[in-house]
Amino acid sequence: MVIQTDALIIGAGPCGLFQVFELGLLGIKADIIDSLPAAGGQCTWLYPDKPIYDIPAVPVCTGAGLVASLMTQIEPFKPVFHLGEEVVALQPIEGGFRVRTAPGKEFLAKTIFIAGGVGSFQPRKLHLEGADDLEGRFIHYSVQDPALFKGKRLAILGGGDSALDWALALGPDAAALTLIHRRDDYRAAPASVAQLKSRAASGAVEIIESASATALRRNGDRLTGIELSLKDGSPRTVEADHVLVFFGLSPKLGPIAEWGLTLHKKAITVDTEAFQTNVPGIFAIGDICDYPGKKKLILSGFHEAALAAFAAKALLEPGKKVHLQYTTTSPLMHKRLGVAD
Ligand SMILES: Cc1cc2nc3c(=O)[nH]c(=O)nc-3n(C[C@H](O)[C@H](O)[C@H](O)COP(=O)(O)OP(=O)(O)OC[C@H]3O[C@@H](n4cnc5c(N)ncnc54)[C@H](O)[C@@H]3O)c2cc1C
Repeated sequence: MVIQTDALIIGAGPCGLFQVFELGLLGIKADIIDSLPAAGGQCTWLYPDKPIYDIPAVPVCTGAGLVASLMTQIEPFKPVFHLGEEVVALQPIEGGFRVRTAPGKEFLAKTIFIAGGVGSFQPRKLHLEGADDLEGRFIHYSVQDPALFKGKRLAILGGGDSALDWALALGPDAAALTLIHRRDDYRAAPASVAQLKSRAASGAVEIIESASATALRRNGDRLTGIELSLKDGSPRTVEADHVLVFFGLSPKLGPIAEWGLTLHKKAITVDTEAFQTNVPGIFAIGDICDYPGKKKLILSGFHEAALAAFAAKALLEPGKKVHLQYTTTSPLMHKRLGVAD
């Protein structure tokens, strides 16, 4: 199936979300894609609970709070979200662009807005021999179907929220569960750590701290366990049918670097009038764009989104003057926002 759209936004971080709003005010409906399973970019994935103090007119909000407010603000424009899909190919065609995602959706878009931040976030991998071979069957970096782990022996690697949350969620139905952490202090919420430690005290799960994984044990193409080196250097083997790895996410500019766009220091060069790239019809905003004086701040991305939207409107409706209208007083804006006059 090919999805046709006037505006396709790549990246659902705060700037991509605000791009939906600015396009919506001008009557342009958008589709928005992100490789991660939830919107919010760095705010959601790197600092959901940390306070932000420099959003204009919002004295303080958390990363998650900002994303929640943006999601509410863009509701009237009903963007179509395509989450958990990485854009892997972008190719100019007559009248627009052909875009393909992994796992395989195809779009025909008249304009493109790249709001890819520092790139798409990828799980940090387990660098042990054979890990790539077993990935998806016995080595996992996310949980798609918890039923797969029922009645199995599980080893979970990591000390952040994902590791602890999945240890708590999967433990009760697992044949055995061992949490293995490289340190003895945790990045996860203290309440989750306390809950898992109390389960460990009752023998329901095992926690091994200050240990690093050194090798995988396998029987043919099946995983049978993981070998560790403990704090004192002694070896230990944990028997496991599945290993779940939660070492966090690292950004990768990835496919964006291959789309023929002018890059400077891993960012996309744009002009400061329209935030357009060297390819007409492709705009770049937020952390991924580069111009003299660029500051990687959310408020800068919001400004860039507004100007890119005006430029896209002019491209989509050539010859038609784009008037600036105030949301306070314009009946057209009110209609688009779905508020009564
Ligand atoms: C700890 C921390 C604290 C911060 N505090 C502040 C602060 O107080 N004030 C402030 O202004 N800024 C702060 N920042 C910076 C701020 O978070 C960034 O400027 C902002 O997130 C940039 O937004 P963005 O939408 O451009 O990109 P991002 O938030 O990085 O989102 C980009 C999205 O694009 C997706 N993506 C990329 N490539 C692809 C692809 N090929 N296919 C599909 N999806 C893709 C990514 O998965 C990601 O979700 C902070 C950053 C950190 C790490």
